[in-house]
Order: sequence, then structure tokens, then C-alpha cells
Amino acid sequence: MSLQLDIPDEFFDPKPFYRTRDAAEAVLREIKEHIKKTGEPHTWRHHTHAKPVAGARIVYLGTFDLPESHQAPDRHAPCPCCSPRAPKFSRNGKIAWFPDEHVIRMIGPECFQTLNPEGHWEAVAQFDREEAARRTISYLLQNIHLASEIRETVLAAGPTLTAIDQVHTALRNRIDEFVRVDLWRHVGRGELNVHVEGRRLRRARGGAEEVETFLDIQRLSLFPECKMFSPKTSHLAGRMTTCAKRLSFLEFGDEVQERVRHMEQMERAKAARMLASGLNTARNIFADAEAIRSGFKPLSISTLKGWTKHKGCPVRLYIDGDYGNFYIGADESHRMRIELPEAFWNTLGRLPEISTALD
Ligand SMILES: [Zn+2]
Repeated sequence: MSLQLDIPDEFFDPKPFYRTRDAAEAVLREIKEHIKKTGEPHTWRHHTHAKPVAGARIVYLGTFDLPESHQAPDRHAPCPCCSPRAPKFSRNGKIAWFPDEHVIRMIGPECFQTLNPEGHWEAVAQFDREEAARRTISYLLQNIHLASEIRETVLAAGPTLTAIDQVHTALRNRIDEFVRVDLWRHVGRGELNVHVEGRRLRRARGGAEEVETFLDIQRLSLFPECKMFSPKTSHLAGRMTTCAKRLSFLEFGDEVQERVRHMEQMERAKAARMLASGLNTARNIFADAEAIRSGFKPLSISTLKGWTKHKGCPVRLYIDGDYGNFYIGADESHRMRIELPEAFWNTLGRLPEISTALD
């Protein structure tokens, strides 16, 4: 590119004000804000524009993109390594600290490779590791307090989950002992079917037409609440206890900051996974609980009643109920009552959202 930028001589003077990494990191935010505001990394007050020596040691402290106003090629930033007086790069620029010279340079994404390939790739790997650690720390600091919130919410739901387990188990036992029909086979696909008699015309051997009746299967209604009849044990309360216990390992009280910062990155990653899976488990438990108990609501019961009373219903079954009771039997005179305890209908608490925003 022939375009030449007017770079004052003093930009090339070394500004050796950063003897330690901490000192260099302390101005990171200032540098990023400068770039965001001006679009000119090389005009930051302590940027050193002189070319680094070959083989110099380097530490990458951060990366940056130029703002939209500087994305046109003639507005790109110059690079001290390879292009000190012409626009060169606009994305993924690097804020680099040079520990031997005590200076900071804003350079192009991979420019330093030509001066010290090994040093460049080592610094990139180091930066990526540190960046991952920073992200995990920030994620944990933003979210780890949710562990106790989730735990309290699932613990508070304990009596309700226990009641749903009990009712679900009682219903399965009544069906096995008294109704003795494989109900799940009929309802498990979420629809209620009936047999209906169909009629069709058939040509008899002699050539004459005659009416023939046949048995057809028709869907009477959808039944998404079918989980109430699932033969699988629900284990809601047990799953809840395990979930709460696992979350309790993530409760650091007032020491969150210190604990998180002093963890190994492996431990941090594990804590982040435990938090996410704890929330996920809690959501699944609540969803399963709602799915089972929705079957006992009046609307679902009236759907079931309509099915059992239909003359084409494939099973002999009586069902009835209200908010406190559920009745089931082979017929009305043999119906069994299952009590729905008050806790059965208690509202399950709201589970929090995990924030993934990074600063
Ligand atoms: Zn360069």
C-alpha cells in the first residue's frame, strides 16, 4: 500500500515504564479504551513504535479490534514490527509487553512470528490459557452464588416432589393389582385411540357389490399428560437430594472471590460444569414433576373419562377425580381412591438463569 501515515518521531522513542507485568496489566483497560475511542492504537501515550529486536521475549496481554470507523483499509493501524508508516491491520491486534525492554507495543496479529517464531507461539499459547482462566473466573464469580439459590429452590420443592412420587407409585400399583391392563401400551405415545366400525363396499365373487364392516383405529384425542401412567419409577425426591448435595459443594459463602482465584484451572472448570449440570438437573426434575402431575388436572381427567366411556375404548377402565382425589378401577363399582396430598399441587419455585456475559 502506497499510503504513508504521518508518524511523529517521538512515537519511536522507547517508553520503558513497565518493569513488571503487573504494571503493564494495570494500563490494559486504558489502552483498550483509547483504541475504542480513537481507532489508533499507535497514538496511545506510552506505545513504543520502534521495531522490536529479533528474538526478543514477548508476553501478550490482550487483543483488540479497531472500531467500525477504522475498518476501511486506508484507516488500518500501522505495525511497529513490519509496517511502521503504512496501514496494516484492523482485527485481532495484540497488546504486547516486552519484559526485557520494559515497553508496550500494539502490533499486528501474527507479526512477531517473523522476529521470534517460538516466542510468538509460546506467548499465544500462554495468552490462550490465561484467557480461558479469566473467562472461567469471571463466569464463576458472576454465577456461583446461584448454587445456593438453586439448592434452596429444589429443597423447598421436596415435599411436593415426594407427594408426586407417592401418587405416581400408588397409581402404578393400583393399575398392576386391580386394573391389570398394560395401560402404558395404549397411552404412552401421547394419544388416545378407539376402535371404530368402518364400512366399505366390496365386490363379491359373483360380481355384485356388498357392504362389508371392518374394525378401524381412530385417534380420539391427544394426551400429552400420559407420563402419569409411565411404568418407570419417578425418583423425583431422590434425584432432588442428590442434586442439592452436589450443589452444596459449590457454596463458598463470603470467601467466593478468594476461593475461585486460588483454584487450579481444572478445578474451576469442574466447578463451572457442576453448576451448569446442577441447574440442568434441577430443571429436568421440575419438568418431569410437572409432566406427571399435569395428568391429574381436571382437563386431563375429563379427556381420560371421554376415552374410557367411548364404546370403542380398547381397555375396560374407569377414571374420575378432583383436586384432592383420583379414582381408578376396572369399573365404577371397583374403583380405588388415591389421595392427592395438598403438597402435590404446590408451585415449584423459579430456577435462576446462568449469566454468560463476559466483561
Ligand atoms: Zn506487523
